[in-house]
Amino acid sequence: MNYRHAFHAGNFADCMKHALLAWLLRALAAKPTPFRVLDTHAGTGGYDLSAGEAMRTGEWRRGIGRLLDVAEGPLADYVALVRAADGTQGAPAAYPGSPALIRALLRPQDHLLACELHPEDHATLRARFRRDPQVAIHHRDGWEALKALTPFPEKRGLVLVDPPFEQEGEFDRLAQGIALVSHRFRAAIQACWYPIKHRAPVRAFHAALQDSGVRDLVAAELWLREPTDPTRLNGCGLLVANPPWKFEAEGGAILAALLDRLGDGEPGQGWAITRIAEE
Ligand code: SAM
Repeated sequence: MNYRHAFHAGNFADCMKHALLAWLLRALAAKPTPFRVLDTHAGTGGYDLSAGEAMRTGEWRRGIGRLLDVAEGPLADYVALVRAADGTQGAPAAYPGSPALIRALLRPQDHLLACELHPEDHATLRARFRRDPQVAIHHRDGWEALKALTPFPEKRGLVLVDPPFEQEGEFDRLAQGIALVSHRFRAAIQACWYPIKHRAPVRAFHAALQDSGVRDLVAAELWLREPTDPTRLNGCGLLVANPPWKFEAEGGAILAALLDRLGDGEPGQGWAITRIAEE
């Protein structure tokens, strides 16, 4: 396991994933009945941007670093959550990982299950939530958790799948995971992150999902340049299964606002919300 998210925390891909995740969780919280969230590849839950790995790459400067003054519009809620987690109001020292963002949006009746396989990152994550009765941290394989920890007793909730994409075949595993959860737990919202380096693997992923027969799938995608260089993270996507009402319109507004701030006007930059499978 070579991947460490600390190098990438707060970059454009995190901003995209977390801004849409916050919107999805707000939609779940619109009903008072309890929900649960499963975060299969959780990371450490928080990252120091002022030191160590994040400082070395500086990726966050072209991500959350360009958003911190946002006070209104489609990104305001997400940015306010990041600022609240940071506490320094403007010069970020810390960036929240997905478990911290999710935790901030739980109500007293809701729960989070988070899995992290890297021993050190798991220990950091566990320590962060040690005294939190609404959060359970597992040192287990997130792919295996998709089967072991679904469906949820609450019968509603969200599954976030955010693998590192450091191994061959992760698009296939993701497509299989989405089909598995759809089969076991039809009501779940699934939000699954994927890289866009070039188009061919993404097209194959969408085609595999269509062939699997899973219903109600939408792909939200943002790319900072034409995705033609397979060695660079040119963009990223969030595949959402069972998206809440208005996701296509409001998710699109989030992507447009992100591109406005994070794009450098490179040829071919853009965003799209594409329906992959009908309801
Ligand atoms: N979701 C996090 C966030 O948004 O803050 C970032 C997660 S990072 C992209 C992927 C994480 O998955 C890494 O921390 C890595 O150690 C962990 N990981 C890798 N393989 C795993 C597996 N099979 N099961 C669970 N975690 C795994």
